[in-house]
Amino acid sequence: MALQIYNVLHREKEPFVPLHEGRVNMYVCGPTVYDHAHVGHAKTYVAFDVVVRYLRYSGYDVLYVQNLTDVGHILDSGEDRILKKARQTQSLPMQIAETYARSYFADMDALGVVRPDISPRASGHIPEQIEMIETLLAKGHAYISDDGNVYFDVRSWPEYGKLSNRRVEEQEAGSRESVREDKRNPEDFALWKLAEPEHILRWDSPWGVGYPGWHIECSAMSRKYLGDTFDIHGGGVDNIFPHNECEVAQSEAANEATFARYWMLVGSLTVPDEFGVPVKMSKSLGNFYTIKDALKLHRPEVLRLFILSGHYRNPIVFSEDALDAARKGWDRIYGAVRLVRTKLQSAPEGDAGGAFRDVVDKAKQQFIAAMDDDFNAPGGLAALYDLTREVNTLLNSSETVGRGVVEAIDQTYRELGGTVLGIVPEEEAAMASTSAEREAGLIQLLLDLRADARAQKDFARADQIRQQLTGLGVTLEDRPDGTIWRVD
Ligand code: AMP
Ligand code: ZN
Repeated sequence: MALQIYNVLHREKEPFVPLHEGRVNMYVCGPTVYDHAHVGHAKTYVAFDVVVRYLRYSGYDVLYVQNLTDVGHILDSGEDRILKKARQTQSLPMQIAETYARSYFADMDALGVVRPDISPRASGHIPEQIEMIETLLAKGHAYISDDGNVYFDVRSWPEYGKLSNRRVEEQEAGSRESVREDKRNPEDFALWKLAEPEHILRWDSPWGVGYPGWHIECSAMSRKYLGDTFDIHGGGVDNIFPHNECEVAQSEAANEATFARYWMLVGSLTVPDEFGVPVKMSKSLGNFYTIKDALKLHRPEVLRLFILSGHYRNPIVFSEDALDAARKGWDRIYGAVRLVRTKLQSAPEGDAGGAFRDVVDKAKQQFIAAMDDDFNAPGGLAALYDLTREVNTLLNSSETVGRGVVEAIDQTYRELGGTVLGIVPEEEAAMASTSAEREAGLIQLLLDLRADARAQKDFARADQIRQQLTGLGVTLEDRPDGTIWRVD
């Protein structure tokens, strides 16, 4: 079965046929860089990372563009997110954007997310946005208000609503824009706003000094790098309205061409509220964990596995239990990978145990069938778990397994678990990736050495270890069933 993608535009799975054979042009809405990214962002960007990795693994030449919103993301209050943060911290807006763009890339690198080929910034593409607004004005899909702001005229575009399935009448309440007196209709959205004196993010334009609305940047930048029509547009489902809906309307009205052919939207990562009801993790609700904090407690492969254990379109609940389960799952897979790599060092030449190649091939087929079915990563993981069970049985048995077979297993883990899912490290990974895990491992090592010293009646050495640990704030308690430790 060839690759099928659930296309939000048509609300069904469709065979994926790119515009140009062998080539995929893809755009994903990037973050607004006004704060550190949280685990909800990780869900969306890890999901698309696996999409890109799998497309490349399948032989496509992918051009992946993901923007950075550093201007124009207006809050309900009418304030620009970046400007607000700049005011709060007494910094320049571009300092804020730069600080958090760097932080975002550092987090993505730490999570093993392959960088987009192009990361265009809204502030660096003002002329392109102005040009598109001029086209919309010339074609009668935009107007200049009495106050001098430029708005998209939603009623001039009957297809408005086709992505989110919202009707114009329903949209008034949902609009993120503050309702402005100078709009013709409340559902119209800003393309260009004139800057008030205190608004320091400002550019010259044919309509006066001002700044672009949020939605126009994605239309202008995707067009610049991917053309009027491109293959895949992605983002989090929370942005389907108004952001993505406005993108489609502006682009198709300006370019008179289909915008993105496949829309893929990622379900939100949620956290239970005080009543246990899952609520979307978001900065504004204050219910977020930054990626940096999450990485202090969990290794990146475990966070990725947690995210990939649900289908990308579904929501997922962030909880300790779910992360524990991901950690156990990862230990299982990586335990087998280590066993395979150890065996590789001593496996005899030849193809003994060659029948196992069928098991490996079956796992690979199962993996590909799952991923071809709308990037079903949980199905792909199931194939790896099945393979792992069989590998453990084989390698822990007394059967002789030749190098060729062990290599085939190793290669399969590297391709499916490493190249595609990014959960199997290429080189031997330290089992403890966080400092807490490392500390616990080191203390346990000292306890083992102390136990050995006592067994050999070397009480001076045993006491020395205890005293030095005490000096470091680690208290030991000898119990009948062993020694425990705690940090005071
Ligand atoms: P923002 O920085 O809020 O503009 O978000 C950047 C991207 O992350 C958008 O595509 C959002 O849809 C996505 N996103 C934000 N919060 C979450 C969440 N809790 N779960 C999944 N994706 C999210
Ligand atoms: Zn966008």
